[in-house]
Amino acid sequence: MKAKIVLLPGDGIGGEVVRETVRVLELMAARRGHTFEFTERLIGGGSIDQHGTALTDEALADCRASDAVLLGAVGGPKWDDPAAKVRPEQGILALRKGLGVFANLRPVRAHPALAGASPLRPEKLAGVDLVVVRELTGGLYFGQPKKREVIDGRERAVDTLEYWDYEVRRILELAFRLAQDRRRRLTSVDKANILESSRMWRAIAMRMAAEHENILLEHMLVDTAAMRLVANPAGFDVLVTENMFGDILTDEAAVLAGSMGMLPSASLGDGGPGLYEPIHGSAPDIAGQGIANPLGTILSAALLLRYSLHLEAEARAIEDAVDAAITAGCRTADLGGGLSTRQMTDEILARLRDAA
Ligand code: NAD
Repeated sequence: MKAKIVLLPGDGIGGEVVRETVRVLELMAARRGHTFEFTERLIGGGSIDQHGTALTDEALADCRASDAVLLGAVGGPKWDDPAAKVRPEQGILALRKGLGVFANLRPVRAHPALAGASPLRPEKLAGVDLVVVRELTGGLYFGQPKKREVIDGRERAVDTLEYWDYEVRRILELAFRLAQDRRRRLTSVDKANILESSRMWRAIAMRMAAEHENILLEHMLVDTAAMRLVANPAGFDVLVTENMFGDILTDEAAVLAGSMGMLPSASLGDGGPGLYEPIHGSAPDIAGQGIANPLGTILSAALLLRYSLHLEAEARAIEDAVDAAITAGCRTADLGGGLSTRQMTDEILARLRDAA
């Protein structure tokens, strides 16, 4: 197949991990007879320095015209002033909006060989293989009104948790489909005992369950879900939830896997290009040293192959190569090893060559 992939390396270690991941994608393309056409554009601090904005209209247009976008990370001390008008993370927000991606997927698998790096006891981690689906463009972070005001000398702040039925339906539909391709268990996380928006969310989920009879749907309050994620994480398959609940739960789930550097993410919409990125930031403390863990980005590329290009076998081959490398003891510094970013990638490439 032929595919156009836009690369947005961004700042700090972003460029280092994206550069290595391209080697993995190029090997997959060569081995399996695909043509991936890469276009590189600026985002974040680098774009601010060059163009005065964190993402230019031209860069966004290229992303929209592509099949998929692979992002590194943005930000760094140079652009850290929270009062600055133009900030690196605006590039990511503009990108999400411009691509219309409303679902953020974060798969978390606890690798047995990395159990020591997790704060949980190894027996709690056995069999953990879950995906958190977070609604990304609505809910508490975007609802209106959103304001801060002084009334009679007292200050008041308001945020609003607002959802339209179609926003809830489309994220649930995506989560049901995902569960269908996995272990067919879907946990819809809400706060239906308190929140009106959650009661609507739950009612819609119950109606949709009738159209997805082979999926086991359960409803769980967000506080219970937060507790279960550490008490019995292996009990989950797919979780789906509101924007802020998801923001918090995805970070909690990320800790299970042991290292920030390992975890991929995908942001998907209705058929347009998907956005793929590791969950970590630009890691200014190690940028430029060539020691960043590339696996979160390499696994994001696997998600890109799976969800945007529908190349399941290729996606699985990359995930298997990462598993095999970890099992064989390959480690970058964040996992207590001595491999450089390039050497770790070489280990993945070697396993892909052997397997293909
Ligand atoms: P961070 O994820 O960049 O780093 C946190 C810690 O994890 C650091 O010690 C770092 O060295 C380590 N780490 C992260 N990724 C790693 C990898 N691949 N390999 C090895 N070690 C890794 O988070 P932070 O320090 O809070 O933020 C740094 C900058 O990144 C800030 O400017 C922040 O705004 C930005 N940021 C960007 C994104 C994004 O682009 N999506 C996400 C989070 C933070």
